[in-house]
Amino acid sequence: MKRRHLLLGSSALIAAPAWLRHARAADLPRFALGVASGQPHASGMVLWTMLTGAGLPERVTVRWELAHDAGFTQIAASGDEVAELAWSHSVHAEPTGLAPARWYWYRFSALGQQSMVGRTRTAPAADAAATSFDFVITSCQRWDVGHYAAWRHVAAEQLDAVMFLGDYIYEYASSAKSIRPVEGSHVRTLAQYRARYATHKSDPALQAAHAAAPWLMVWDDHEVGNDYANLQGQELEPDFKAQRAAAYRAYWEHLPFPKSARPVDADMRITGRLDWGRLARIHLIDDRQYRDVQACPKPGRGGSNTVKLQACPELLDAKRTLLGAEQERWLAEGWDSARPWNLLAQQTLMARFSQSDPASGGGTYWTDGWDGYPAARNRLLGVVAQRKLPGVVVLGGDVHANYVADLKADFDDATAPVIATEFCGTSITSLGQQQARVDAARAFNPHIRYARSDQRGYMRFALGEKQLQMQVRVVDNALDPASGITTAARFVVDAAKPGAQAA
Ligand code: FE
Ligand code: CA
Repeated sequence: MKRRHLLLGSSALIAAPAWLRHARAADLPRFALGVASGQPHASGMVLWTMLTGAGLPERVTVRWELAHDAGFTQIAASGDEVAELAWSHSVHAEPTGLAPARWYWYRFSALGQQSMVGRTRTAPAADAAATSFDFVITSCQRWDVGHYAAWRHVAAEQLDAVMFLGDYIYEYASSAKSIRPVEGSHVRTLAQYRARYATHKSDPALQAAHAAAPWLMVWDDHEVGNDYANLQGQELEPDFKAQRAAAYRAYWEHLPFPKSARPVDADMRITGRLDWGRLARIHLIDDRQYRDVQACPKPGRGGSNTVKLQACPELLDAKRTLLGAEQERWLAEGWDSARPWNLLAQQTLMARFSQSDPASGGGTYWTDGWDGYPAARNRLLGVVAQRKLPGVVVLGGDVHANYVADLKADFDDATAPVIATEFCGTSITSLGQQQARVDAARAFNPHIRYARSDQRGYMRFALGEKQLQMQVRVVDNALDPASGITTAARFVVDAAKPGAQAA
C-alpha cells in the first residue's frame, strides 16, 4: 500500500519515545524534506529528493516518475536511482530526451511510501522563439531570524524558474532570543552541515517553493562560512580545505544538482549557462571558490573589512580576481550577442557602493563584494561595453537589501554611459543594515536608483523580447509565517537601452 506523506514535519517523531520510533520504523516519513528540481534545459532537468528517517539500508532503490499531468495518468519518463548512505540517501535523477518548453509533474517512491508531487519544466529549445521568461531572484534565508512567508508567496507566483543566489544555510549557532533557534553549535563538520540543511529544508513553505518550479542556484559564503575566500576561512582555520569539502558535499547532497557536479574533495563546479530559447542567455557564476583573498583584512584574520581606498592601495591591484582567470575567460567568451538579453546570476552587489565621499580619499569600501575587486569589475564591464551588448542584466543577493543600479565604467563620471542594469535582491529573512546608513550613502553613489535594506522578500521579473519588468515584492512582517506581501516598487528595462526606469 502506498502512503503519501505530504508536508509531515519531523517534530512529531522527535517527541516519540525511542522504542516507539523503532517499532514504527516502516511508518517514518521517508520523504520528509520534500522534492526539488533544478538546472532545466531544453530536454531535461535534475529531479531531487532525499530519503529520511532512522534505519535506512545502506543502498535503497528509489523510483521516480515524470508525467505530463498532475494526476500521473500520462507518464513521460521514469526510472530507478540508488540512494546511498554515503551521500545522505540523496537522489539526483536526470530524465533526458524530453520535449522542450513543457511543464511536467514528478514524484518519487521507495519503501512503500511516495513523496509529495513537484512541478517542473524544460526550457525552450535554444533556437526556438520564446516570448517570456518569468522568474524571481531570492537569497539569504537565515533560519533563526525570521519565517519563510516569502517562500509561500514565491510558490504562488506563476514562474518558469526560481533563482537562488546564495546563503541557503547559515553556519552560526543561535542565540537564546532567536524566534526559532537552530540546533547545535557553529557548523564546521559534515554531520553539522547535513543537520543544518535538514533544519532549513523541513520548512513547508520552502518545500512548496522548490516543488513549484525548477531552481537555478549559486552559492555564496554561508554555505561554508562567513566571508571565506577560495581556501581561506575568516578565522584562518588550518583545516579549512577539509571544511570546504564537507560543506560542498552537503550542498550537493541537499540540492538539485546533477551527478556530474558531485564534488571531488574540496571542488565543485556550479558555474553554468542556459539559453532560454532565442530570448535570453543565463550565466551562473561562482565568486567564492576561485577568488583572491580579500585585501587589507583586520590583523590576524581573513575575511572582509571596511577600508578607505587611500589606506588600502592593494584594492586597485590589477591582478586581483573575484572569479578566477579561467571563469573570467569563460564568461568573457560566452556573452551572447544574438539574443536580446544576457542575465548574469551571481552572488553580490556589483555597483560601487562607497560609504564616504569618493572625492576625498577615494571612498570607503566593504572588501568582500565587487568593491574589493574593482579591477575585476572593470574587466567584466569592459567586455560588455566592447561587445556592445545592450541587454546585460546583473542579478545578485548577499547584502540583504534591494538595490537597483546603473553599471558604468566610471561610477564617478555622471556623463559616463550606462553599460548594464543591476538588480540586487534582498533576503528572504536575513537582517539588513540600518536604512539610515544606506540613505546616508546614497549621495556618494548616484548610480544607485533604489536602495532599501529594511525590506525582506524577493524580486519578481517578467522578461519579454522588448522589455524586462521587475516588481520589488516585500513581505509585511518576516517574523510572521502567515505574512502577506505587497509590491513596493516597479522598474522596467528596455532591451535596447541599459538602465532601469521606475514604472
Ligand atoms: Fe546573506
Ligand atoms: Ca553572503
